[in-house]
Amino acid sequence: MKQDFLDDAVKRNRGLISQGVVATYIPELAKVDKNYLGVTIAYADGTILSSGDTKIRFAIESISKTVVLALALLDNGEEEVFKHVHKEPSGDAFNSIKKLETEPDHLPRNPFINAGAIMTASLIKGKDPVDKFNRVLEFMRLISEDKTLELGEDIYLSEKKTGDTNRGLAYYMKGQGVLTGEVEDILDVYFKQCSIYVTTESLAKIALFFANGGILSTGERIIPKKYAQIVNGLIATCGMYDQSGEYLDNIGIPGKSGVGGGIISPVSSKKLGVAVFGPALDEQGNSVAGIGIMKDISKELDLDMF
Ligand code: GLU
Repeated sequence: MKQDFLDDAVKRNRGLISQGVVATYIPELAKVDKNYLGVTIAYADGTILSSGDTKIRFAIESISKTVVLALALLDNGEEEVFKHVHKEPSGDAFNSIKKLETEPDHLPRNPFINAGAIMTASLIKGKDPVDKFNRVLEFMRLISEDKTLELGEDIYLSEKKTGDTNRGLAYYMKGQGVLTGEVEDILDVYFKQCSIYVTTESLAKIALFFANGGILSTGERIIPKKYAQIVNGLIATCGMYDQSGEYLDNIGIPGKSGVGGGIISPVSSKKLGVAVFGPALDEQGNSVAGIGIMKDISKELDLDMF
């Protein structure tokens, strides 16, 4: 991949920004300039290619769900985790309660819709919510190879203040006896994990980590290969909410988005990770211009999941 191509891809896809809007249901996210657009590709040999707004810090939001799932697997093992959450696409919006009610066991469909992510957050070990979140943050710093990652206090307080739909999901699961623990404590970990500030570079490293089977660029293995495969499989089937099938069909590689405007794509076949940032979102909550850049890169590098 040439730097020129990446610069052109950012320029070319800027036109799509006008088709999207920033997330407004979390007031702090509504303040973000919708014109930001950036991309980073991280390769296993340490090469990093970046273009556009790659130094801007933005909220990781739902992309954190991949990291928390990996830590929940490390903390509890695969069998235990999947006693609490399924591995199937929901076909519904990210914050939908519908299937929690209609599924006979009332378990969330997968760890990447909000209900499932609240469930996986409840599985993180630690003596209290502060300790649990600190473990999440440290783990994210480790696998992104970015020690500067921090909680965005402003985003966190905004999520907490306006997170009633998430409270609804959590209390419903507790009422059905499938979520255990104090709802506000569990949500505190969840709201904070979503509010960590990242850049496209830290996200591309996270994508590379999963693409590389759970190995850092130093060669150190952090999670078993099987856990990375689970995360990658779920990214492919459930990463873009009710647009997951279309994304895989259109772009050809898995993607996990967040309402902060980020998308990561781990590409195992080429041992590389791509991350984009473009806060103007489509109706499903996915970055419009970000998807455009992903499409261009996938075509240029002949990326394929299979
Ligand atoms: N913190 C967001 C929420 O729970 C995450 C959603 C997302 O990024 O899709 O509403």
